[in-house]
Amino acid sequence: MKPLLCLFSLSIFFLSALADDIRNSPPKDLNGFFPFDPPSTLEEWKKRKADLTLRLQVATGLYPMPPKTPLNAVIHGKITRPGFTVEKVYFESVPGFFVTGLLFRPENSMTKKCPAVLNPHGHGGRLQDHGKSGGKGVLKQIEIGAEKFEESGRMPKIARCATLARLGCVTFLYDMIGYADNLQLSYKLAHQFSKRRSNFERQKDWGLYSAQAEMRMFSIFGLQTWNSIRALDFMESLPDVDPARIAVTGGSGGGTQTILLGALDDRPIASFPNGMVSSSMQGGCTCENASLLRIGTGNVEMTALFAHKPQGMTAADDWTREMLIEGKGFHELKKLYALYGKPEYVICPDLTHFKHNYNYVTRAIMYSWFNRHLKLGHPEPVIEQDFKLLSKEEHEVWNGQHSPPEGGDAYERRLMAQLDERDHRLLENLEEKKKAETMIKAWQTIVGRSMEDALEHNYQIEGNKLTNQSMKEEIELQIPENLPSAPKIVVLLGASAKKSMDQAVKPVLFRQNQDGPTEKVSNSREFAGYTHGYNHSRLARQIHDLLSVIAFLKSKTDQPIEIHAGQGFEAQAIVASYLAGNLINKVIVESSNFRFSQITNHHAPRFLPGAIKYGDLDFLIQTLGKKLKRS
Ligand SMILES: [Zn+2]
Repeated sequence: MKPLLCLFSLSIFFLSALADDIRNSPPKDLNGFFPFDPPSTLEEWKKRKADLTLRLQVATGLYPMPPKTPLNAVIHGKITRPGFTVEKVYFESVPGFFVTGLLFRPENSMTKKCPAVLNPHGHGGRLQDHGKSGGKGVLKQIEIGAEKFEESGRMPKIARCATLARLGCVTFLYDMIGYADNLQLSYKLAHQFSKRRSNFERQKDWGLYSAQAEMRMFSIFGLQTWNSIRALDFMESLPDVDPARIAVTGGSGGGTQTILLGALDDRPIASFPNGMVSSSMQGGCTCENASLLRIGTGNVEMTALFAHKPQGMTAADDWTREMLIEGKGFHELKKLYALYGKPEYVICPDLTHFKHNYNYVTRAIMYSWFNRHLKLGHPEPVIEQDFKLLSKEEHEVWNGQHSPPEGGDAYERRLMAQLDERDHRLLENLEEKKKAETMIKAWQTIVGRSMEDALEHNYQIEGNKLTNQSMKEEIELQIPENLPSAPKIVVLLGASAKKSMDQAVKPVLFRQNQDGPTEKVSNSREFAGYTHGYNHSRLARQIHDLLSVIAFLKSKTDQPIEIHAGQGFEAQAIVASYLAGNLINKVIVESSNFRFSQITNHHAPRFLPGAIKYGDLDFLIQTLGKKLKRS
């Protein structure tokens, strides 16, 4: 019993000594509060926008942007309805990985250049069906005023695209991963993943959701975002599309994709992300989350990245309800748009008499929005009309002439290896200066702090406690009294570091004394993105502490600083020294054998999303060069 008691009292002491450290609060999850604090000047917003865009690029695995390989698009199986046609489409977003969907074209579209609307769908898929005509589903929708037609109102996503085509827009409704004809990665994998798969958690032949994939920034969310970008490429390539008039709209999970496209791609000129712009729930599915994505941000601020281009959304009786309350979204978006002199370019009508939806009424608001901003020239109001739905044969992309591609476990592993190879080559082939710039930005993002940030923070030392007041973080720190007169400052990490180091600065990094699994949110599904999409990893926090210590020391003395790292602290020392640049003169490590690529469990204390993609410790060691020594 004795050692246990000891440990218990030690941890009580540890927590009480640092009781005000904000990091002792439970980790944030997707149901937290995600306010958008609008900037007071556009200058301020410009800087924030650059940082946030970089975060989204890194989190989706799209930093730097991968090469765009040939789409090899195939369009087939044309059918005609009054006012529009529908064709089946497939193309490769990367070689062998297919995007599938339906292309709606206005009648006679080939005679002119048409505006185009991309339609990512949410859960339910493009084939979402309220139920057969005469069945309860659609009649109930008609009764509450959510739909108008027994036939076309059954399938709201098809109705949306058919109407946009009737309004003169070339419209592409593509499958999210795991839906309809997009089955190379299954629905179960993309949207229902809940248990870590031991046979995918290894250093080679790993799969999605594994620690290896997370440390390379591969996720369903990232793959889906890439598919969305490639869907814009596909639309832009069509002879009847005017590339200067492209818009995007989706609801729910498709709303999330709309937000991301608005943030990451310059081509859309108008947008209607419905049902997901909210300062509360951020998207519950594995397909709506990714490690690093929402640390320090949320859907409202991500939506703001599209400013000042026109974008509409609605508030419904779901997590978007609060958008209408000051401090919770819409007012703040409007303030940002007002800074650009365009407050009328963002709307959020009150449809809180409806549950979560992209129904007839919401669609009517969207048609009108695009009528105005894509200059469709249609008389107002725009009224949706009925049409005969597509049969299974009419909407199925794969058939006897067009065979479905390979999918399943073996394909998943091959796709991961293919993307890993692509990204590795992409970084390796960057010209030296470009590579150095790319890598430092990437590491600052995955760690979540730069040395420059740390130098701007305010610090206070009181006894053995260093407080980073700007971030409300507390660090246990032993510091010698004669600091200003010392010939050099040594920061000693870990008790096992060699030599008698009485005069060293000795920080205790965040949860340094705690082994075992790292902090996690209460979500029972075993996906790193649920925790690490909202919270820094333990290792990142330890690096934050080290940067705080370096910044604090720099404010007290001009002496050169060295870091001596004992066993288990080499990663923290090496990453922090790389980020600190010439503020660190020397790094001495007891061992340099650890690599992030050895980690096969995202609960491991040194797990850091992105670390393998951006060169692992090998790149950092190489960059530190002679500064790094083995003790
Ligand atoms: Zn999903």
